[in-house]
Amino acid sequence: PLTVEVEDLVVRHSPAPAGRETRPALDGVSLRLTPGRRVAIVGPSGAGKSTLLAALMRLVEPESGRVTVNGADVRDLAGDDVRTLMTGLTQDPYIFRTTLRDNLRLAGPDAGDERLRRAVDDARLGDWVERTGWDAELGEDGRTVSGGQLQRLALARALLYDPPVLLLDEPAEALDEETADRLMADLLDVTRDRTTLLVTHRLKGLESVDEVVVLEEGRVTQRGRHDELVAVP
Ligand code: ADP
Ligand code: ADP
Repeated sequence: PLTVEVEDLVVRHSPAPAGRETRPALDGVSLRLTPGRRVAIVGPSGAGKSTLLAALMRLVEPESGRVTVNGADVRDLAGDDVRTLMTGLTQDPYIFRTTLRDNLRLAGPDAGDERLRRAVDDARLGDWVERTGWDAELGEDGRTVSGGQLQRLALARALLYDPPVLLLDEPAEALDEETADRLMADLLDVTRDRTTLLVTHRLKGLESVDEVVVLEEGRVTQRGRHDELVAVP
């Protein structure tokens, strides 16, 4: 089990021009992701959500502060190791021009490992897809799936390989309201007790996450459980 800690992180995408102060994309952000907990990062466009995920994945270098995994600075880990520890799900999951079965089997981190590939039989694949709330036919052509199904496929693909930390970047972003609501409900159901960082710009439906962190202009402006942050109408 992994604990991921973000400590007073400052990230600036480009240096401030001489004589001018510019706002960093992240300006002193701290959070802790302990085993089995789910934290949601909520904030408007430009708040720094993508930058935070990029820092977790070691894709940007912080100006100060650090990200640690069980106490070790991610800068001391290989990039591939960090990305294996933290598996992500983005707004635009990719799909190969083949069946759902092959999409699930060929896309894991150890896809080259024949033993693992054989071990992942149809029953297990079907089970994972079903847990995401989708009664799919594994032989179905991946090209025919809808946006919501595509996210479920990507979720099953991520969970199948049991990542220590799951990073979810606006998984419902490209979907219509109703499909988004259903996806988020199923997603929160299937990720229960998994160490998860969920990035979203919607507070709606986040009642079950352990902590909601509101990010605005690179700073944490509020944090707590959903019912502590949202006034009941
Ligand atoms: P989102 O808010 O949905 O993450 P954005 O439109 O903010 O999407 O960003 C899309 C991509 O463009 C991200 O990879 C982000 O890092 C990058 N990006 C955002 N703003 C800038 C910018 N001012 N200059 C260069 N790249 C940017
Ligand atoms: P969010 O994901 O919440 O929309 P981002 O992390 O994409 O926010 O952006 C935070 C700030 O950093 C914004 O001002 C954005 O324009 C800027 N930014 C993001 N990515 C880049 C980049 N690659 N280069 C320059 N500026 C960027």
